[in-house]
Amino acid sequence: MIFYLPDIFIFVLGLAIGSFLNVCILRIPEEKKIEGRSGCPKCGYEIKFYDNIPVFSWLFLGGKCRNCKNPISKIYPFGELLTGILFLVVYQKYGLVLRLPEALVFTSILVVVSVIDFRHKIIPNVVLLVGVVLVFVSRVSLGVVNGNVLDEILSFVIGGGIGIGIITFHFLLFWIVTRKSGFGMGDFKLMFLLGAFLGAFKAIILFFLASFLGVILFLIFKSIEKEKVNQFAFGPALCLSAYIFIFIESSEIVNFLKF
Ligand SMILES: [Zn+2]
Repeated sequence: MIFYLPDIFIFVLGLAIGSFLNVCILRIPEEKKIEGRSGCPKCGYEIKFYDNIPVFSWLFLGGKCRNCKNPISKIYPFGELLTGILFLVVYQKYGLVLRLPEALVFTSILVVVSVIDFRHKIIPNVVLLVGVVLVFVSRVSLGVVNGNVLDEILSFVIGGGIGIGIITFHFLLFWIVTRKSGFGMGDFKLMFLLGAFLGAFKAIILFFLASFLGVILFLIFKSIEKEKVNQFAFGPALCLSAYIFIFIESSEIVNFLKF
């Protein structure tokens, strides 16, 4: 694989966006404001711009606050690197097309949702709402450019509807059999966003893959953390499946299913 200047630009953009996503990941579950300069969570020391360079600052400071020397969460370099790498692979897949910004926004939303759900077992409404609005705006804009606004809106609504439909069907099935609710409200809303972005067909296949991955992730986490894990977060499994489906075409799935 050869990297050119645009690849490096996209990767660095991903690191910078990842820095912002970290702020969302850490502040949204605590219902703090997103804007405003970041400070050390332990001593409140305001982080200067030269200590805020993605990944490098964390490495340079040895993962410690410059002022109080308390450790800084590994979430910071992790979120930045993850976003940088995902931006790069999304760009490699899509190339420089009009749909690229939407794919990058969708990727960013997935990063925030999967990390927050993994850590707190919640999917904040505000993140999903921002995702749905931005993807919708992108679809309408692309529709205007390509002269097929109605097609874009229809694929958005039908994809989202099928996404909600398939999880509702399984929710009811699970409830009839066990009299327990198998999914959280956040999972329903997330399925709308995934269906709206990926389309109806991928939403259906994605749901089955996520159910399978969810069980595997649950068993892995349970073996690592023993008794701490008692419910599996379906959100990260949905996001992981969605990452996979960004890169796979519907025709490839059909061929795979046909063997
Ligand atoms: Zn500090």
